[in-house]
Amino acid sequence: MLVTDDIQALTTAVSGPVALPDTPEFAAETLAFNAATVHRPDVVLGARDAQDVAAGVKWAAEHRLPVAVQSTGHGADSAVDGGLLINTRRLQEVAIDPVERTARVGAGVKWRSVLEASVPHGLIGLHGSSTDVGVVGYTVGGGLPLMGRAYGFAADHVRSMEVVTADGALRRIDAGAEAELFALMRGGKGNFGIVTELEFSLFPLGDFYGGGIIYPGADAALVLTAFREWLPTLPEDASPSISLLRLPEMEFVPEPLRGQFVVHLRFAFLGSREDGDRLLAPMRAVSRPLMDTAGPMSYLDVDQIHMDPSDPLPFTAGGALLKDLGEDTVADLLKLTGEGSDCPLLLVEIRPLGGALGRAGASPDAVSGRDAAFLLFLLGFKMPPIAEAVAASIRGILAAMAPHSTGYTLVNFHGAPGDVADRARAWPPAVYERMQAAKSSYDPGNLLRFGHAITGMPSAG
Ligand SMILES: Cc1cc2nc3c(=O)[nH]c(=O)nc-3n(C[C@H](O)[C@H](O)[C@H](O)COP(=O)(O)OP(=O)(O)OC[C@H]3O[C@@H](n4cnc5c(N)ncnc54)[C@H](O)[C@@H]3O)c2cc1C
Repeated sequence: MLVTDDIQALTTAVSGPVALPDTPEFAAETLAFNAATVHRPDVVLGARDAQDVAAGVKWAAEHRLPVAVQSTGHGADSAVDGGLLINTRRLQEVAIDPVERTARVGAGVKWRSVLEASVPHGLIGLHGSSTDVGVVGYTVGGGLPLMGRAYGFAADHVRSMEVVTADGALRRIDAGAEAELFALMRGGKGNFGIVTELEFSLFPLGDFYGGGIIYPGADAALVLTAFREWLPTLPEDASPSISLLRLPEMEFVPEPLRGQFVVHLRFAFLGSREDGDRLLAPMRAVSRPLMDTAGPMSYLDVDQIHMDPSDPLPFTAGGALLKDLGEDTVADLLKLTGEGSDCPLLLVEIRPLGGALGRAGASPDAVSGRDAAFLLFLLGFKMPPIAEAVAASIRGILAAMAPHSTGYTLVNFHGAPGDVADRARAWPPAVYERMQAAKSSYDPGNLLRFGHAITGMPSAG
């Protein structure tokens, strides 16, 4: 149990605020974007710099307390119970090098801040569907970008990082320095250390075309069939995805769509209006679109493509990698989630992989999904009275779709981690084994054991 002197020792060692559960600052310091998750650490540290993170980890190790990290809480799939929570949201440095085409960011930076600094230089980073997500949490989870088919996973393009390992040491690592740790930190989530700074490549931005088409849910079979036939006609610099949405009567939903069941096609393309219109034409001819927002777009409006909510919501989720999107896969999915089903989920999403996502990056990393064709992602509200039904529905759909799955998932789309076998689904077996070995050497005391943590190699004997 922590006593006043212990807390005093932490407060003296750091420059950022330290808050206990009975203080007014505690709620704000532990708040997560996933409003269903309420963290209850013994103490929370609002780190101001990398030295604070290192001092916090050292202090926790001395007191045999586990350590968790949060910047935005978009990935708060499970609650932190006890131990030290390090909040990185004050680490807000963003430095763009337009000549080298790189960005260097602090651990609290969101993708929106990167784009605001890089787009004026004609450069973009490999963010996902929402730029409200934190760069570091997303990238250590592999990072499936909006433009992933063109460039690959975000983790493939990390140049270097600064990380505090469980011994409290602050290390700068890259493909040459501590190569195995560098490989496993890129896709292995927060298993081996707390990143304080990340340096990664940026990509040139020319014309950009994007938006979405919304169809009536009653036409889901027609639209999904057209979607899977259309995909092979697209170049790699076109990134589509599709979802079935049961939209709530809530403010983040455009007014005419509130309360409706619809199909949402999203389309992002690094090219001109003429080429974008030509590529999208077959999908514009399907069904009777209720809304069509696709066209030339300022890159800073990129969040309008997926229209993910930007205010905290209570949710639970689950995902699986699919081998294909054949007729049977579509039919089985629609049986469970289409019109006439009692599916309670807000979102049933299919993201095509392939292209650069299927090719290894310049240096090895811990990303999974290279051999998969699609990601299936399921999300629903975790609140009464539907929370139980939503959780059961996610479990049921994942079980029923198992014959179409590779058996694995992406850690960023895993949802709440379950038992050891369930956690292992987020990585290919060979990577998982290397992660277990690295966990044994970099975190032998299992200090970093929250979230999607794995355990080290079982000790011999
Ligand atoms: C609306 C929405 C859209 C999304 N879209 C995409 C997408 O398109 N592609 C995609 O790949 N993912 C996507 N995600 C998933 C997202 O990438 C993960 O939830 C990610 O963990 C969020 O990181 P964060 O830092 O914002 O969240 P946090 O909840 O703050 O962190 C989540 C976890 O990331 C790890 N982490 C965070 N900071 C550090 C650190 N400094 N050092 C080490 N580990 C750290 C820890 O394990 C932590 O528990 C989306 C999530 C949401 C809610």
